[in-house]
Amino acid sequence: MKLASTRDPRATATFSQAVQAGTAPDGGLYAPVDLTPFPDVEALLDLGWRDRSVELVRRFLGDEYDAEDLAAATAGALDFPVPLVPVAPGLHALELFHGPTLAFKDVGARFLARMLQLEARREDRPRLVLTATSGDTGAAVASAFHGLEGFRVVVLYPAGRVSPLQERQFATLGGNVRALAVAGSFDDCQALAKAAFADGDLARRVGLTSANSINIARVLAQTLYYFEAVAALRRAGVAAPPVVAVPSGNFGNLYAGMLARKLGLPLRALVAATNANRTVPDHLDSGAYRPRPSLATLSNAMDVGAPSNWERVRALVGDDLDALRAGLRWGSLDDAGTVASLRALHAAGYLADPHAAVAAAVLRDHLRPGEPGIFLGTAHPAKFLEVLEAHLGIRVPLPEALARLADQPLRSEPLPVSAAALTEVLGA
Ligand SMILES: *Cc1c(COP(=O)(O)O)cnc(C)c1O
Repeated sequence: MKLASTRDPRATATFSQAVQAGTAPDGGLYAPVDLTPFPDVEALLDLGWRDRSVELVRRFLGDEYDAEDLAAATAGALDFPVPLVPVAPGLHALELFHGPTLAFKDVGARFLARMLQLEARREDRPRLVLTATSGDTGAAVASAFHGLEGFRVVVLYPAGRVSPLQERQFATLGGNVRALAVAGSFDDCQALAKAAFADGDLARRVGLTSANSINIARVLAQTLYYFEAVAALRRAGVAAPPVVAVPSGNFGNLYAGMLARKLGLPLRALVAATNANRTVPDHLDSGAYRPRPSLATLSNAMDVGAPSNWERVRALVGDDLDALRAGLRWGSLDDAGTVASLRALHAAGYLADPHAAVAAAVLRDHLRPGEPGIFLGTAHPAKFLEVLEAHLGIRVPLPEALARLADQPLRSEPLPVSAAALTEVLGA
Protein backbone atom coordinates (compact mmCIF):
# COMPACT_ATOMS: atom_id res chain seq x y z
CA MET A 1 0.00 0.00 0.00
CA LYS A 2 1.38 3.33 -1.01
CA LEU A 3 0.92 6.11 1.52
CA ALA A 4 1.85 9.78 1.49
CA SER A 5 2.09 12.52 4.08
CA THR A 6 -0.96 14.77 4.38
CA ARG A 7 1.48 17.70 4.10
CA ASP A 8 3.48 16.67 1.06
CA PRO A 9 2.35 14.16 -1.60
CA ARG A 10 6.01 13.50 -2.46
CA ALA A 11 6.73 12.25 1.08
CA THR A 12 5.63 8.68 0.39
CA ALA A 13 6.02 5.51 2.46
CA THR A 14 5.15 1.86 2.31
CA PHE A 15 2.73 0.56 4.94
CA SER A 16 5.64 -1.17 6.63
CA GLN A 17 7.49 2.12 6.98
CA ALA A 18 4.40 4.04 8.06
CA VAL A 19 3.27 1.53 10.68
CA GLN A 20 6.65 1.74 12.36
CA ALA A 21 7.17 5.49 12.03
CA GLY A 22 3.69 6.58 13.19
CA THR A 23 3.89 10.14 11.84
CA ALA A 24 5.61 11.33 8.64
CA PRO A 25 8.98 13.10 9.00
CA ASP A 26 7.38 16.42 7.97
CA GLY A 27 4.94 16.16 10.89
CA GLY A 28 2.03 15.14 8.64
CA LEU A 29 0.00 11.96 8.88
CA TYR A 30 0.28 9.08 6.45
CA ALA A 31 -2.76 8.48 4.26
CA PRO A 32 -3.42 5.96 1.45
CA VAL A 33 -2.79 7.34 -2.04
CA ASP A 34 -4.79 4.95 -4.24
CA LEU A 35 -8.45 4.70 -3.28
CA THR A 36 -9.92 3.20 -6.43
CA PRO A 37 -13.37 1.78 -5.61
CA PHE A 38 -13.58 -2.01 -5.51
CA PRO A 39 -15.48 -3.28 -8.58
CA ASP A 40 -17.00 -6.16 -6.58
CA VAL A 41 -18.35 -4.52 -3.44
CA GLU A 42 -21.58 -6.51 -3.68
CA ALA A 43 -19.67 -9.80 -3.61
CA LEU A 44 -17.59 -8.55 -0.68
CA LEU A 45 -20.75 -7.73 1.23
CA ASP A 46 -21.95 -11.30 0.77
CA LEU A 47 -18.97 -12.60 2.76
CA GLY A 48 -19.03 -13.02 6.55
CA TRP A 49 -17.29 -10.57 8.94
CA ARG A 50 -14.08 -12.58 9.31
CA ASP A 51 -13.66 -13.70 5.68
CA ARG A 52 -14.46 -10.27 4.29
CA SER A 53 -12.03 -8.58 6.68
CA VAL A 54 -9.25 -10.99 5.73
CA GLU A 55 -9.96 -10.35 2.04
CA LEU A 56 -10.00 -6.55 2.47
CA VAL A 57 -6.71 -6.57 4.39
CA ARG A 58 -5.20 -8.76 1.68
CA ARG A 59 -6.24 -6.14 -0.89
CA PHE A 60 -4.79 -3.33 1.22
CA LEU A 61 -1.49 -4.94 2.20
CA GLY A 62 -0.98 -8.05 0.05
CA ASP A 63 1.79 -6.31 -1.92
CA GLU A 64 3.93 -6.09 1.24
CA TYR A 65 3.10 -9.11 3.38
CA ASP A 66 2.51 -12.80 3.03
CA ALA A 67 -1.21 -13.56 2.65
CA GLU A 68 -1.18 -16.12 5.46
CA ASP A 69 0.51 -13.71 7.87
CA LEU A 70 -2.09 -11.08 7.04
CA ALA A 71 -4.95 -13.51 7.51
CA ALA A 72 -3.60 -14.57 10.91
CA ALA A 73 -3.07 -10.96 12.00
CA THR A 74 -6.58 -9.97 10.94
CA ALA A 75 -8.36 -12.96 12.42
CA GLY A 76 -6.30 -12.65 15.63
CA ALA A 77 -7.15 -8.95 15.98
CA LEU A 78 -10.86 -9.34 15.22
CA ASP A 79 -11.64 -12.32 17.40
CA PHE A 80 -14.83 -10.76 18.76
CA PRO A 81 -18.22 -9.99 17.17
CA VAL A 82 -19.43 -6.53 16.04
CA PRO A 83 -23.20 -7.10 16.11
CA LEU A 84 -25.75 -4.81 14.49
CA VAL A 85 -28.50 -4.48 17.07
CA PRO A 86 -32.02 -3.16 16.32
CA VAL A 87 -32.89 -0.19 18.55
CA ALA A 88 -36.10 1.24 17.05
CA PRO A 89 -37.82 1.01 13.66
CA GLY A 90 -35.26 2.16 11.08
CA LEU A 91 -32.54 2.54 13.70
CA HIS A 92 -29.66 0.19 14.57
CA ALA A 93 -26.54 0.29 16.75
CA LEU A 94 -23.31 -1.28 15.50
CA GLU A 95 -21.74 -2.47 18.76
CA LEU A 96 -17.96 -2.26 18.55
CA PHE A 97 -17.32 -2.86 22.24
CA HIS A 98 -17.24 -6.63 22.61
CA GLY A 99 -13.43 -6.84 22.59
CA PRO A 100 -11.26 -7.44 25.66
CA THR A 101 -11.28 -3.84 27.00
CA LEU A 102 -14.91 -3.23 26.00
CA ALA A 103 -14.18 -0.27 23.72
CA PHE A 104 -13.87 0.09 19.97
CA LYS A 105 -10.21 1.05 20.38
CA ASP A 106 -9.55 -2.70 20.72
CA VAL A 107 -10.11 -3.04 16.96
CA GLY A 108 -7.34 -0.65 15.96
CA ALA A 109 -4.95 -1.47 18.80
CA ARG A 110 -5.15 -5.24 18.26
CA PHE A 111 -4.53 -4.98 14.53
CA LEU A 112 -1.66 -2.51 15.05
CA ALA A 113 -0.06 -4.88 17.58
CA ARG A 114 -0.13 -7.78 15.14
CA MET A 115 1.26 -5.73 12.25
CA LEU A 116 4.10 -4.49 14.47
CA GLN A 117 4.70 -8.11 15.43
CA LEU A 118 5.17 -9.01 11.74
CA GLU A 119 7.70 -6.18 11.50
CA ALA A 120 9.51 -7.27 14.65
CA ARG A 121 9.81 -10.80 13.25
CA ARG A 122 11.29 -9.54 10.00
CA GLU A 123 13.99 -7.72 11.91
CA ASP A 124 14.23 -10.20 14.72
CA ARG A 125 14.76 -7.69 17.49
CA PRO A 126 12.77 -7.17 20.67
CA ARG A 127 10.53 -4.16 21.07
CA LEU A 128 9.27 -2.20 23.99
CA VAL A 129 5.95 -0.43 23.61
CA LEU A 130 5.87 2.61 25.87
CA THR A 131 2.55 4.38 26.39
CA ALA A 132 1.31 7.11 28.71
CA THR A 133 -2.38 6.97 29.55
CA SER A 134 -5.03 8.90 31.41
CA GLY A 135 -7.13 5.72 31.44
CA ASP A 136 -8.62 4.04 28.41
CA THR A 137 -5.91 4.00 25.73
CA GLY A 138 -3.50 2.30 28.14
CA ALA A 139 -5.96 -0.54 28.59
CA ALA A 140 -6.48 -1.08 24.85
CA VAL A 141 -2.74 -0.96 24.10
CA ALA A 142 -1.67 -3.13 27.04
CA SER A 143 -4.34 -5.71 26.28
CA ALA A 144 -3.50 -5.71 22.55
CA PHE A 145 0.17 -6.56 23.18
CA HIS A 146 -0.38 -8.77 26.22
CA GLY A 147 1.21 -12.14 25.57
CA LEU A 148 2.50 -11.16 22.09
CA GLU A 149 5.92 -12.71 21.66
CA GLY A 150 8.74 -10.24 21.04
CA PHE A 151 7.11 -7.37 22.91
CA ARG A 152 7.37 -5.79 26.32
CA VAL A 153 4.81 -3.15 27.28
CA VAL A 154 5.24 -0.36 29.80
CA VAL A 155 2.20 1.73 30.75
CA LEU A 156 2.76 5.04 32.54
CA TYR A 157 -0.26 6.40 34.40
CA PRO A 158 -0.89 9.06 37.03
CA ALA A 159 -1.12 7.32 40.42
CA GLY A 160 -4.55 7.76 42.00
CA ARG A 161 -5.93 9.66 39.02
CA VAL A 162 -7.44 6.91 36.90
CA SER A 163 -10.60 5.08 37.88
CA PRO A 164 -10.09 1.81 39.81
CA LEU A 165 -11.71 -0.09 36.93
CA GLN A 166 -9.39 1.50 34.37
CA GLU A 167 -6.35 0.76 36.52
CA ARG A 168 -7.38 -2.87 36.82
CA GLN A 169 -7.66 -3.18 33.04
CA PHE A 170 -3.93 -2.61 32.52
CA ALA A 171 -2.33 -3.16 35.93
CA THR A 172 -3.54 -6.73 36.51
CA LEU A 173 -2.30 -8.23 33.23
CA GLY A 174 1.23 -9.10 34.31
CA GLY A 175 3.38 -11.19 31.95
CA ASN A 176 4.97 -8.87 29.41
CA VAL A 177 2.98 -5.83 30.65
CA ARG A 178 4.35 -3.56 33.39
CA ALA A 179 2.21 -0.77 34.84
CA LEU A 180 4.08 2.15 36.42
CA ALA A 181 2.09 4.39 38.76
CA VAL A 182 3.74 7.77 38.33
CA ALA A 183 3.71 10.14 41.32
CA GLY A 184 2.40 13.00 39.20
CA SER A 185 -0.16 14.06 36.59
CA PHE A 186 -1.01 12.66 33.15
CA ASP A 187 1.09 15.48 31.67
CA ASP A 188 4.06 14.25 33.74
CA CYS A 189 3.51 10.76 32.29
CA GLN A 190 3.45 12.12 28.76
CA ALA A 191 6.58 14.16 29.37
CA LEU A 192 8.40 11.09 30.72
CA ALA A 193 7.39 9.04 27.67
CA LYS A 194 8.44 11.83 25.33
CA ALA A 195 11.85 12.13 27.02
CA ALA A 196 12.40 8.37 26.68
CA PHE A 197 11.59 8.44 22.93
CA ALA A 198 13.90 11.46 22.52
CA ASP A 199 16.80 9.55 24.13
CA GLY A 200 18.16 7.94 20.93
CA ASP A 201 20.55 5.65 22.75
CA LEU A 202 17.87 4.27 25.06
CA ALA A 203 15.32 4.03 22.23
CA ARG A 204 17.69 1.89 20.14
CA ARG A 205 18.91 -0.21 23.02
CA VAL A 206 15.47 -1.36 24.20
CA GLY A 207 13.64 -1.06 20.83
CA LEU A 208 11.22 1.65 21.95
CA THR A 209 8.04 1.50 19.88
CA SER A 210 5.06 3.83 19.87
CA ALA A 211 1.50 2.51 19.52
CA ASN A 212 0.17 5.93 18.96
CA SER A 213 -3.44 6.62 18.07
CA ILE A 214 -2.70 8.23 14.69
CA ASN A 215 -1.00 5.08 13.38
CA ILE A 216 -2.34 4.16 9.93
CA ALA A 217 -2.81 0.52 10.97
CA ARG A 218 -5.59 1.57 13.33
CA VAL A 219 -7.44 3.46 10.64
CA LEU A 220 -7.28 0.57 8.16
CA ALA A 221 -8.66 -1.86 10.74
CA GLN A 222 -11.52 0.52 11.44
CA THR A 223 -12.64 0.59 7.80
CA LEU A 224 -13.52 -3.10 8.15
CA TYR A 225 -16.51 -2.66 10.43
CA TYR A 226 -18.13 -0.10 8.15
CA PHE A 227 -18.35 -2.84 5.54
CA GLU A 228 -19.81 -5.12 8.19
CA ALA A 229 -22.43 -2.48 9.10
CA VAL A 230 -23.81 -2.46 5.55
CA ALA A 231 -23.54 -6.24 5.20
CA ALA A 232 -25.38 -6.87 8.48
CA LEU A 233 -28.11 -4.42 7.49
CA ARG A 234 -28.60 -6.37 4.25
CA ARG A 235 -28.78 -9.62 6.21
CA ALA A 236 -31.52 -7.95 8.28
CA GLY A 237 -33.45 -7.34 5.06
CA VAL A 238 -32.65 -3.64 4.53
CA ALA A 239 -31.15 -2.96 1.10
CA ALA A 240 -31.04 0.86 1.17
CA PRO A 241 -27.64 2.42 1.93
CA PRO A 242 -27.58 3.58 5.56
CA VAL A 243 -26.67 6.87 7.18
CA VAL A 244 -23.97 6.08 9.77
CA ALA A 245 -23.39 8.35 12.78
CA VAL A 246 -19.93 8.38 14.36
CA PRO A 247 -19.30 9.63 17.92
CA SER A 248 -16.15 11.65 17.28
CA GLY A 249 -13.21 13.08 19.20
CA ASN A 250 -9.99 12.83 17.21
CA PHE A 251 -11.96 11.86 14.07
CA GLY A 252 -9.97 8.73 13.26
CA ASN A 253 -13.19 6.71 13.25
CA LEU A 254 -15.00 9.11 10.93
CA TYR A 255 -11.98 9.16 8.62
CA ALA A 256 -12.07 5.35 8.43
CA GLY A 257 -15.72 5.57 7.36
CA MET A 258 -14.84 8.09 4.66
CA LEU A 259 -12.15 5.72 3.37
CA ALA A 260 -14.63 2.84 3.25
CA ARG A 261 -17.00 5.02 1.24
CA LYS A 262 -14.24 6.02 -1.21
CA LEU A 263 -13.53 2.34 -1.69
CA GLY A 264 -17.07 1.89 -2.91
CA LEU A 265 -19.04 1.02 0.21
CA PRO A 266 -22.64 2.21 -0.31
CA LEU A 267 -23.28 4.70 2.51
CA ARG A 268 -25.99 7.34 2.12
CA ALA A 269 -24.04 9.70 4.38
CA LEU A 270 -21.75 9.82 7.38
CA VAL A 271 -22.74 11.91 10.38
CA ALA A 272 -19.98 13.56 12.43
CA ALA A 273 -21.35 13.75 15.97
CA THR A 274 -19.53 15.59 18.74
CA ASN A 275 -20.24 16.58 22.32
CA ALA A 276 -19.79 20.21 23.45
CA ASN A 277 -16.32 20.17 21.90
CA ARG A 278 -17.57 21.81 18.73
CA THR A 279 -14.37 22.51 16.80
CA VAL A 280 -15.46 20.45 13.77
CA PRO A 281 -19.20 21.27 13.67
CA ASP A 282 -18.33 24.98 13.99
CA HIS A 283 -15.82 24.60 11.18
CA LEU A 284 -18.36 22.91 8.91
CA ASP A 285 -20.97 25.56 9.75
CA SER A 286 -18.81 28.64 9.39
CA GLY A 287 -15.77 27.65 7.34
CA ALA A 288 -13.30 28.87 9.97
CA TYR A 289 -11.18 26.16 11.60
CA ARG A 290 -10.47 27.07 15.22
CA PRO A 291 -8.90 24.39 17.41
CA ARG A 292 -9.36 25.20 21.09
CA PRO A 293 -8.79 23.75 24.57
CA SER A 294 -11.07 20.81 25.31
CA LEU A 295 -14.12 20.92 27.60
CA ALA A 296 -14.89 18.13 30.07
CA THR A 297 -18.14 16.29 29.27
CA LEU A 298 -19.97 13.05 30.11
CA SER A 299 -18.59 11.47 26.91
CA ASN A 300 -15.01 12.09 27.95
CA ALA A 301 -13.26 10.02 25.27
CA MET A 302 -14.56 12.65 22.83
CA ASP A 303 -13.26 15.63 24.81
CA VAL A 304 -10.94 16.86 22.10
CA GLY A 305 -10.59 20.47 21.01
CA ALA A 306 -7.83 19.98 18.41
CA PRO A 307 -8.66 16.71 16.63
CA SER A 308 -5.51 14.97 15.44
CA ASN A 309 -7.06 13.18 12.46
CA TRP A 310 -8.79 16.20 11.00
CA GLU A 311 -5.75 16.76 8.82
CA ARG A 312 -6.43 13.39 7.18
CA VAL A 313 -10.12 14.17 6.65
CA ARG A 314 -9.28 17.41 4.88
CA ALA A 315 -6.55 15.85 2.77
CA LEU A 316 -9.01 13.19 1.60
CA VAL A 317 -11.23 15.84 -0.03
CA GLY A 318 -8.29 17.87 -1.37
CA ASP A 319 -8.96 20.49 1.29
CA ASP A 320 -12.26 21.34 -0.45
CA LEU A 321 -14.74 22.30 2.26
CA ASP A 322 -17.77 22.15 -0.02
CA ALA A 323 -16.89 18.65 -1.17
CA LEU A 324 -16.56 17.67 2.48
CA ARG A 325 -19.92 19.19 3.38
CA ALA A 326 -21.58 17.37 0.48
CA GLY A 327 -20.78 13.94 1.89
CA LEU A 328 -21.25 14.69 5.57
CA ARG A 329 -23.94 15.63 8.02
CA TRP A 330 -22.88 16.96 11.41
CA GLY A 331 -24.04 18.13 14.79
CA SER A 332 -23.18 18.32 18.46
CA LEU A 333 -24.90 17.62 21.75
CA ASP A 334 -24.25 19.04 25.23
CA ASP A 335 -24.40 17.02 28.45
CA ALA A 336 -28.08 17.77 29.07
CA GLY A 337 -28.86 16.48 25.58
CA THR A 338 -26.68 13.44 26.20
CA VAL A 339 -28.64 12.56 29.34
CA ALA A 340 -31.94 13.06 27.46
CA SER A 341 -30.67 10.77 24.71
CA LEU A 342 -29.54 8.11 27.23
CA ARG A 343 -33.03 8.23 28.76
CA ALA A 344 -34.84 8.06 25.42
CA LEU A 345 -32.77 5.08 24.34
CA HIS A 346 -33.29 3.36 27.68
CA ALA A 347 -37.03 3.94 27.41
CA ALA A 348 -36.90 2.29 23.98
CA GLY A 349 -35.20 -0.71 25.59
CA TYR A 350 -31.58 0.01 24.65
CA LEU A 351 -28.80 0.75 27.12
CA ALA A 352 -26.22 2.99 25.46
CA ASP A 353 -23.02 4.56 26.79
CA PRO A 354 -22.76 8.38 26.70
CA HIS A 355 -20.66 8.38 23.48
CA ALA A 356 -23.19 6.30 21.54
CA ALA A 357 -25.98 8.42 23.03
CA VAL A 358 -24.45 11.54 21.45
CA ALA A 359 -24.28 9.82 18.05
CA ALA A 360 -27.84 8.46 18.32
CA ALA A 361 -29.35 11.88 19.05
CA VAL A 362 -27.39 13.70 16.35
CA LEU A 363 -28.37 10.94 13.93
CA ARG A 364 -32.08 11.32 14.70
CA ASP A 365 -31.80 15.05 14.00
CA HIS A 366 -30.32 14.39 10.57
CA LEU A 367 -32.14 11.30 9.34
CA ARG A 368 -34.58 11.88 6.46
CA PRO A 369 -37.73 9.82 5.97
CA GLY A 370 -37.05 6.31 4.71
CA GLU A 371 -33.30 6.37 5.38
CA PRO A 372 -31.99 3.53 7.54
CA GLY A 373 -29.84 4.88 10.39
CA ILE A 374 -26.94 3.26 12.23
CA PHE A 375 -25.01 4.75 15.15
CA LEU A 376 -21.69 3.31 16.30
CA GLY A 377 -21.49 2.00 19.88
CA THR A 378 -17.89 2.78 20.84
CA ALA A 379 -17.87 1.75 24.51
CA HIS A 380 -19.72 -0.79 26.62
CA PRO A 381 -22.27 0.99 28.84
CA ALA A 382 -20.75 -0.67 31.94
CA LYS A 383 -17.58 1.37 31.39
CA PHE A 384 -19.68 4.42 32.27
CA LEU A 385 -21.80 2.92 34.98
CA GLU A 386 -21.48 5.95 37.28
CA VAL A 387 -23.07 8.17 34.62
CA LEU A 388 -25.84 5.68 33.89
CA GLU A 389 -26.59 5.00 37.53
CA ALA A 390 -26.70 8.72 38.33
CA HIS A 391 -28.91 9.72 35.41
CA LEU A 392 -31.05 6.67 34.69
CA GLY A 393 -31.40 5.50 38.29
CA ILE A 394 -30.59 1.92 37.31
CA ARG A 395 -27.95 -0.61 38.34
CA VAL A 396 -25.65 -1.64 35.52
CA PRO A 397 -24.26 -5.15 35.89
CA LEU A 398 -20.55 -5.54 35.19
CA PRO A 399 -19.87 -7.76 32.21
CA GLU A 400 -17.77 -10.85 32.83
CA ALA A 401 -14.59 -9.27 31.39
CA LEU A 402 -14.72 -6.46 33.98
CA ALA A 403 -16.11 -8.43 36.92
CA ARG A 404 -13.24 -10.91 36.65
CA LEU A 405 -10.71 -8.13 37.21
CA ALA A 406 -11.95 -7.41 40.72
CA ASP A 407 -10.27 -10.59 42.01
CA GLN A 408 -6.97 -10.05 40.22
CA PRO A 409 -4.05 -8.65 42.22
CA LEU A 410 -2.83 -5.19 41.17
CA ARG A 411 0.73 -5.43 39.93
CA SER A 412 1.61 -1.78 39.49
CA GLU A 413 4.97 -0.38 40.55
CA PRO A 414 5.53 3.18 41.80
CA LEU A 415 7.70 5.54 39.74
CA PRO A 416 8.86 9.04 40.68
CA VAL A 417 8.60 11.78 38.04
CA SER A 418 12.17 11.19 36.94
CA ALA A 419 13.49 10.39 33.46
CA ALA A 420 16.52 8.68 35.02
CA ALA A 421 14.29 6.38 37.07
CA LEU A 422 12.27 5.48 33.97
CA THR A 423 15.46 4.81 31.97
CA GLU A 424 16.56 2.43 34.67
CA VAL A 425 13.23 0.56 34.62
CA LEU A 426 13.16 0.37 30.82
CA GLY A 427 16.77 -0.70 30.52
CA ALA A 428 16.46 -3.44 33.12
C1 LIG B 1 -11.74 7.28 21.29
C2 LIG B 1 -13.21 7.22 21.47
C3 LIG B 1 -14.12 7.94 20.65
C4 LIG B 1 -13.64 8.93 19.60
O1 LIG B 1 -13.05 8.29 18.48
P1 LIG B 1 -12.17 9.14 17.47
O2 LIG B 1 -11.69 8.16 16.47
O3 LIG B 1 -11.06 9.75 18.29
O4 LIG B 1 -13.04 10.20 16.89
C5 LIG B 1 -15.48 7.76 20.82
N1 LIG B 1 -15.95 6.96 21.80
C6 LIG B 1 -15.14 6.26 22.61
C7 LIG B 1 -15.73 5.41 23.67
C8 LIG B 1 -13.74 6.36 22.48
O5 LIG B 1 -12.94 5.67 23.31
